[in-house]
Amino acid sequence: MTTAATDFTTQPDAHGHFGQYGGMFVPETLMAALTELSDEYARARKDPTFQAELDDLLANYVGRPTPLYFAKRWSEELGGAKIYLKREDLLHTGAHKINNAVGQILLAKRLGKTRIIAETGAGQHGVATATVAARAGLECVIYMGKVDTERQALNVARMRFLGAEVRGVSAGQATLKEAVNEAMRDWVTNVRHTHYILGTAYGAHPYPMMVRDFHRVIGLEARRQILEHEGRLPQLLIACVGGGSNAIGLFHPFLNDADVRMVGVEAGGEGIIPERHAARFQGGRLGVLQGAKTWLLANEDGQIELTHSVSAGLDYAAVGPEHAWLHDQGRADYTYATDDEALAAFQSLAKIEGIIPALESSHALAHAMKVAPGMAKDDLIIVNVSGRGDKDVAQAARFVFGEELKF
Ligand SMILES: *Cc1c(COP(=O)(O)O)cnc(C)c1O
Repeated sequence: MTTAATDFTTQPDAHGHFGQYGGMFVPETLMAALTELSDEYARARKDPTFQAELDDLLANYVGRPTPLYFAKRWSEELGGAKIYLKREDLLHTGAHKINNAVGQILLAKRLGKTRIIAETGAGQHGVATATVAARAGLECVIYMGKVDTERQALNVARMRFLGAEVRGVSAGQATLKEAVNEAMRDWVTNVRHTHYILGTAYGAHPYPMMVRDFHRVIGLEARRQILEHEGRLPQLLIACVGGGSNAIGLFHPFLNDADVRMVGVEAGGEGIIPERHAARFQGGRLGVLQGAKTWLLANEDGQIELTHSVSAGLDYAAVGPEHAWLHDQGRADYTYATDDEALAAFQSLAKIEGIIPALESSHALAHAMKVAPGMAKDDLIIVNVSGRGDKDVAQAARFVFGEELKF
């Protein structure tokens, strides 16, 4: 259980275990590639020229640091704690995903790879990957479920303009899980010259650790910025959790600050009814999916269940292994927001602060709306606004105005 003396930043072990979670559950043919990647990442991490190049790209291409903005009117409207927003929505390409993509493209170049592949759900990771591949002059193929290519047509067009080939996947539910399967199949076949830029803190080791490390910049900046603004640490951090990368990026630098609580918000969809949500900590179980052992949504036979969320980026059956571990440790709490609650938060932030958040981020904002009113006026909350809502405007308009937008 949580004690002040526990160090929560020692995970994972050398084989990628976060307690009983994580690991490397992949076909034999990928073990060499994962080991090669782990070794190169270990070298890069200690190499000052790698860090310097990454820092330069983050500052001058990606747009870091992002502001930590005090949402004064929204805080007053809710009538409780002071709410600060970490503005990852202001980054190049519109979401936190680019933090990881720039890190991994530098690794791919170090490894001498000439071809990049990735999976994408909402298309944000596909756009981030196509962007860094364009800048590096590397061939790029993005796998995306057919259903997602239709609901996120704007991002498909962006990827194509960026020079990537988008391959629609029509197997199964034709969403993110199937796109990951196809990307892994491609990687097995083309592993010698291809690097797989996985888009969240998930999959086989070293991805959950490496992706987390590339996103830690979110929490490192937020920690410094809240100390500048307020001279003290916040009571509460809130972030949405799909695979878990934006959340772990914010949480990790605060894990050893015992007085800072943190809440990950999963997709409650239409409520906690089988196959109508993607909240893995609500009725999920232990299992293995796509490289990692973790909490996931499956039936009693171990078959992965269908999932649903209004936001494609949270619509996935498994959660990153470090979150499963933090959950068991009692260090972070996990809850959910429904589609309707997320849409209400989307509208509220837009109207009151002039910020249109991604529907994924709106789940975190929805939780802030629930808890802020019950907190003291000088309590501090930081909410991670993981992305901007431009990509979601057509979908939100359908729900809120009952209108079909044509672009
Ligand atoms: C992809 C995405 C998410 C979910 O992914 P995590 O790895 O859980 O962060 C959340 N917000 C936005 C804007 C995204 O694009």
